[in-house]
Amino acid sequence: MSTDVSNKNVFYIGCHLSCSKGFLHMAKEAESLGANTFQFFTRNPRGGKAKDIDPADVQKFLEYSKRMGLGTVVAHAPYTLNACGADERVQEFAFQTMKDDLQRMEYIPGNLYNFHPGSHVGQGMETGIQKIADLLNQILWPEMQTTVLLETMAGKGSEVGGKFEELKAIIDRVELSDKVGVCLDTCHVYDGGYDIVDHLDEVLEKFDRVVGLDRLKAIHLNDSKNPFASHKDRHEKIGEGSIGIEAMVRIINHPKLQGIPFCLETPNELPGYAEEIRVLRGMKS
Ligand code: FE
Ligand code: FE
Ligand code: ZN
Repeated sequence: MSTDVSNKNVFYIGCHLSCSKGFLHMAKEAESLGANTFQFFTRNPRGGKAKDIDPADVQKFLEYSKRMGLGTVVAHAPYTLNACGADERVQEFAFQTMKDDLQRMEYIPGNLYNFHPGSHVGQGMETGIQKIADLLNQILWPEMQTTVLLETMAGKGSEVGGKFEELKAIIDRVELSDKVGVCLDTCHVYDGGYDIVDHLDEVLEKFDRVVGLDRLKAIHLNDSKNPFASHKDRHEKIGEGSIGIEAMVRIINHPKLQGIPFCLETPNELPGYAEEIRVLRGMKS
């Protein structure tokens, strides 16, 4: 059973929101911004303890989201989570945090949980990939209702996931791989050397060949402050960076990218997000 509400004919666009006031508040905030999806941190992005789930808030959220036509939403793991650290304490933090987050996600079944695969910090790509897969194999369970997403990375430092092949290698080693998908971050892939500006079709074909487009469950829609293949990872407002508005319009309208949530992680406050959502909706055919 899946409560996935995605519909290929609907444009799901939203932005990153603060989870501090609970689920119902996020749904209403998204609606007020013209959004029909959103992303939120499961806890402080630097780690720390998660806010207690309020079952009454969750119940109201589930009812409200049905009424407003909210699509699949994306939870984001803290940035400090490294699933392939060298240090025992780093591994333990990743294990406890992801396990706890995924148990909490069951309150809102059928949604997505995105994480940065990690940094191998000198252990080598092969060890990094194996550790990430091992962690997922310890944490995922057959009845879970959430799809866990590996985010495409810019390939900064010892980051794992800057290449589609690395994501594929992780997925191949996960036993419950039907619980695993990918979130494509436009800033990261462009910084990572995939030319989504001049060769979007080829990049998507490559993704399909290596990972499979059926694994692509969400897009982080961000412009980049840095040039192509810079491996930097600095997000820019839509249309103000090296990717540019024309490429963004081709991305949101690409026939292979329909029905999945597009989440803005651009440097904006809420009014800026509302404006980007309005502009993008106006450019959606
Ligand atoms: Fe991210
Ligand atoms: Fe991202
Ligand atoms: Zn980023």
